[in-house]
Parts: sequence; C-alpha cells; structure tokens
Amino acid sequence: MVHFVGAGPGAVDLITVRGQRLLEEADVVIYAGSLVNTALLEMVKEGCRIYDSARMTLEEVTAAMELAESEGLMTVRLHTGDPSIYGAVREQMDILEEKGIAYASCPGVSSLSGAAAALNLEYTLPGVSQSVVITRTAGRTPVPEKESVEAFAGHGATMVLFLSAGLLEQLTAGLLAGGYSPDTPAAIVYKATWPEEETYICTVGTLTATARENGITKTALILVGDVVSHSSYERSRLYHPEFTTGFRAGKKGVEGH
Ligand code: SAH
Repeated sequence: MVHFVGAGPGAVDLITVRGQRLLEEADVVIYAGSLVNTALLEMVKEGCRIYDSARMTLEEVTAAMELAESEGLMTVRLHTGDPSIYGAVREQMDILEEKGIAYASCPGVSSLSGAAAALNLEYTLPGVSQSVVITRTAGRTPVPEKESVEAFAGHGATMVLFLSAGLLEQLTAGLLAGGYSPDTPAAIVYKATWPEEETYICTVGTLTATARENGITKTALILVGDVVSHSSYERSRLYHPEFTTGFRAGKKGVEGH
C-alpha cells in the first residue's frame, strides 16, 4: 500500500497526527527533497528505505513503489504542504492503478495556511473579500488562458500565488492589467513556518523591488488583496449579538461593539 502524505509547510510539528503515524510505520519513504523538511525523516523507523524524489523521474518513483509493494512493504510518499495543491500526485496514482497497487491520501497543512499564519491573516474578511483564488503565474508549466492572472485579478478577490516568486514582473503586469491598483496591499512570505521564515508587506507596485532587495526568488507565496492590510472590514454576522444561529438565539436591539 502507498500512502500519499502531506508533510506540512515546513515546521516539523505541522504534519498531521495521522501523517506522523504513517511516517513512523513506513518501510519505504519517498520524499520531495526540494521542499520537504528533512528533519521529518528522523521519525522513521530503523531500516526504513529512503528516497529523495527531487533526483528521480516519475518512472523511477513508481518503480520504487512497485518494488516495495512486491516485497509486501508500506510506502509513504511524502509531499510538501498538502498533496492536492501542485503536488503532481494524480500521475503517480494513475500508474499505481494500472499496476493494481492500492493507495490512499493523508492531507497536510498547505503553505497557503502556513503563510496566513505567518502574518495572522484572515483571507476572507467580510466586506473585503469572501473568496481566495489559488493560482500561479504561467512559467514552464502553462496555465490555461481563461485562468490567467489578469482574468482572476478582475475579481478583486484575495489571491494566493504559488510558484511565482521568480516571475514577479510578469505577475505584476497581469495583476495591474486585470484591474488591481499599484497600491493594492500585497505580501511575500518566504519559507512560511520554517525557522528561516521571512515576511514582507508591500504593494502590488512594489512586489518586484521588495523581492529583489531581499534576494527572494523561490519558496515563497505572494498574497494579494485588501485583506493583507485589513484596514477596513465588517464584523462577522455569525458572532453579532443580534444574529441567531443554530447554537445561539440573537437578541434584538443589542448593539454590537
Ligand atoms: N503542495 C504544496 C505546494 C507545492 S508547489 C503546498 O500545499 O504548499 C511549490 C510552491 O509552494 C513553492 O514554489 C512556493 O510557492 C510554495 N511553498 C511551498 N512551501 C512554502 C513555504 N513554506 N512558504 C512559502 N511558500 C511555500
């Protein structure tokens, strides 16, 4: 059996309890060495076979899984953050299906959440934005035309950009073309939740300069939207004294804070 496990964004204690248990039980671990914190590998049992997939092709990865399966061993495929976001897991799963090897997924804390935590941000502030667009700038991997940064920027919603820290000029052009003003708040979060985490609050207009001044070209998320500055927003309806929920009766005429 192969378990696809989310390693979390970086900090060792941000793997899930289930993910940790699977890692402790694994006979074989194939981890994404480019981004997974190798301190997690200290959890594995003695004799565990370990591969770094950063040096392997898809075929080599699935061959290692097949070998483990033929020996009756349990494999953990350790992906950074949550495997469902830019994890390249589907192609592995399809090969496992062809080979008749069972697999399951264990979610992880995405860097999407790690970056919000680094800044104590709420992505969905009432009256500001109620949606989060998770996307990337087109690079060597193309992005469908109707999903361009420019097209999404037109919504003015909160945007979280993966895999884009090295493409900031192109990203900024898309954001501006889509309708964000240059003074829209933005943030760069480098290595969220790692000991070497760095956070920078800037604006759409100063994204490129901020990254350049601080030498940031990768392993960062770019956050865009007014939620970054949270200078004005509406309080939540859910916790308002007058609002009735399934758990609490609202009281008419009680003034909120
Ligand atoms: N599955 C991962 C994303 C993999 S794509 C997740 O859920 O987080 C790799 C990209 O994720 C990087 O280029 C970077 O944009 C982002 N990333 C991953 N870990 C990060 C971290 N700790 N801090 C900031 N960005 C991170």
